[in-house]
Amino acid sequence: MPIEYELRAGALVWIKNPFTGAISYIVDLRDKSFAFTLGAHSLSPPPPSQSDRERMARALAVCPFCPGNESKAPSEIIRVPPGEIPHWPGDPACPWTIRVFNNLFPRIPAELTGGQNESYVVVEDSRHFLPDARGPSELLFTGAIGEQQFVRLMEVNAQVVERSLSNPAVQSVVVRKNQGPESGASQPHIHQQIIGSPVNLPVLEVELRLLRSEPRLWDDLIGLMDQLGLTIDSGPEVVSYASPIGIFPRSYDVVMPHHRGLLHQLDPAGLSAFARAMHRILRFIGPIPLDYEIHQAAGMPLHAHINVRRFPYSNVAGTLNLPQGIFDSVGALRRTLNQD
Ligand SMILES: [Zn+2]
Ligand SMILES: [Zn+2]
Repeated sequence: MPIEYELRAGALVWIKNPFTGAISYIVDLRDKSFAFTLGAHSLSPPPPSQSDRERMARALAVCPFCPGNESKAPSEIIRVPPGEIPHWPGDPACPWTIRVFNNLFPRIPAELTGGQNESYVVVEDSRHFLPDARGPSELLFTGAIGEQQFVRLMEVNAQVVERSLSNPAVQSVVVRKNQGPESGASQPHIHQQIIGSPVNLPVLEVELRLLRSEPRLWDDLIGLMDQLGLTIDSGPEVVSYASPIGIFPRSYDVVMPHHRGLLHQLDPAGLSAFARAMHRILRFIGPIPLDYEIHQAAGMPLHAHINVRRFPYSNVAGTLNLPQGIFDSVGALRRTLNQD
């Protein structure tokens, strides 16, 4: 078995990420003070002022992802009108809810993908702020959009993946989300990136190399997470768990163990199950900065890694300190799901 770890009295003490070699060490951080790193966030917001409203109006006016500013972005590829998303709570007069166009700043030069820009932006919702926002920092976040909209968003992702792969120069496509400036999001308006690459992206290459020598790796991982009590969702098609081997201490994986293919090759029920499992975790995390990546390749179980960016005691030279609290958070997450 390729996964190395140690249990003491049934509890996980440390575990080594089989892909990267990073070692996660579970520690009790209850006595550690985070007053310095969390101080700015713990202040309650001041009451809204005229200047808050002015700053919000200015943010909408200059945002290239907002309705009315479509001409500030490259030409549109896909548009989902509000009528296609049941119970969408935004302005019904808005001409679109989800929109796709090429990224003005490609991640990979077009010269490497047959002269075509294969970097895409998917604007997840035309709303910039939360419905009851009082200030410019109260942005809409992915966990706040509805489940049906997130499923529709995943269908759009699948459409873009298929489009990118129709370019013979593209071999690999990744879906990536950054939420919040702390996670590297360059625009405050909620969006995803989709990147088509001429070769397997480096993270996928690492995963595929190990999978070739350890074909049962994902089954072993899912079994171990279950044994450790970290499983969140376990259905016939999709499994999710709080991962002790993520990039940061608070990470989650959503895996389709039986679908060894790409997003656009899923049937509608599978795509919906995958999207709903991701959405439950995103809703639980809320507005906290995070990133997620959907990894897909022929022969590899389709999966998403969700990484929360809140915790400062993060990855240092391939070592990770994991708070014992991750085990409590799984219980809280499951309880939230059971209330659905
Ligand atoms: Zn906007
Ligand atoms: Zn992966």
